[in-house]
Amino acid sequence: MLGHKLKKRLADEFDLVKQAEDLGVSVWQTPSFLFIVMGFVILVAMTGVYFISNNYDSPDVLVISESAVVAILFTIGNFIINSFNQVAKANKMKTEFVSIASHQLKTPIAEMNWQIELLLSKFPEGLSEKQQLLIGQIERSSQKMARLVNDLLDVARIDQGRLALTKEAVDLCDVVSDAIANQQPFSTIAGIELKSACPVKSPKILIDKKRIGVALDNLISNAIKYTNKQGVVEVFLEVKNDLVQVRVRDNGVGIPSNEQCDIFKKFFRSNNSMKNNTDGTGLGLYIAKNIIEQSGGKLWFQSIEGAGSEFLFSLPIIKA
Ligand code: ADP
Repeated sequence: MLGHKLKKRLADEFDLVKQAEDLGVSVWQTPSFLFIVMGFVILVAMTGVYFISNNYDSPDVLVISESAVVAILFTIGNFIINSFNQVAKANKMKTEFVSIASHQLKTPIAEMNWQIELLLSKFPEGLSEKQQLLIGQIERSSQKMARLVNDLLDVARIDQGRLALTKEAVDLCDVVSDAIANQQPFSTIAGIELKSACPVKSPKILIDKKRIGVALDNLISNAIKYTNKQGVVEVFLEVKNDLVQVRVRDNGVGIPSNEQCDIFKKFFRSNNSMKNNTDGTGLGLYIAKNIIEQSGGKLWFQSIEGAGSEFLFSLPIIKA
């Protein structure tokens, strides 16, 4: 396992074309390429200086050759710093662009949703059955768009370090019950049994109720999405010493073991979920992990392909 990870890491380190594509720079600007050149120059320079000091007595020649080596290393160092700067600036601009674009899209989408809702609730008699069906489809698509825009806004906030949490004393069982109620209609449509269990008495913890609710919604909706008809999704809350732990377990498609290390990366989707044509963006787990970690907790999982997955998170009980 460790050997496999190391091999993958080394292969990634030397895959300069992939690195250049990932960073959006040319191959000769990738840090690995510049480090290789730098290593090569240091090797040649050391051999050269050794050769010169053995064959020439003149200190001038030695000083000139050493100065030349320092100048070359300085130039390469400068290239490395510039390429890092370029990547950092591009990354910052991308995050700002996503943030501005999502902000601008949020209002018109909300207006569209509101108008569709109004049309369907106030004037249904003026619409034929076919028209109502089509408008219903538009409503679902625009709700999907609203969710995507919200996710993109959250990702931009996380990347800019601006994910503000408004903490209050909350019983996590209430958050679990709300999330179950939110997801119940989707599990019913998908033909999946959704079960939950909370202890009678669970201590209050200091969290941002809305954001932890988003994280929990993401975990439960994934469990439903990646489980076949007639499957079971279970949500348990347990109190363990000074922690409250939530487990979201499914008996769905599972995550292939070779992809498990990438699962919390932004935009990552496993091969089996894409093959099954399930809708998704690869943002839900990235958002959930950041929310939970910023709340002082931990999120992890275990999964077996073809058997199911269990996502667990724990949050500290803060004693008053
Ligand atoms: P999305 O579900 O929108 O694609 P997520 O970030 O929530 O994005 O999840 C990332 C990927 O992790 C999913 O595309 C899927 O491949 C995998 N995944 C997440 N939860 C589960 C689960 N309960 N069972 C199987 N695969 C899962």
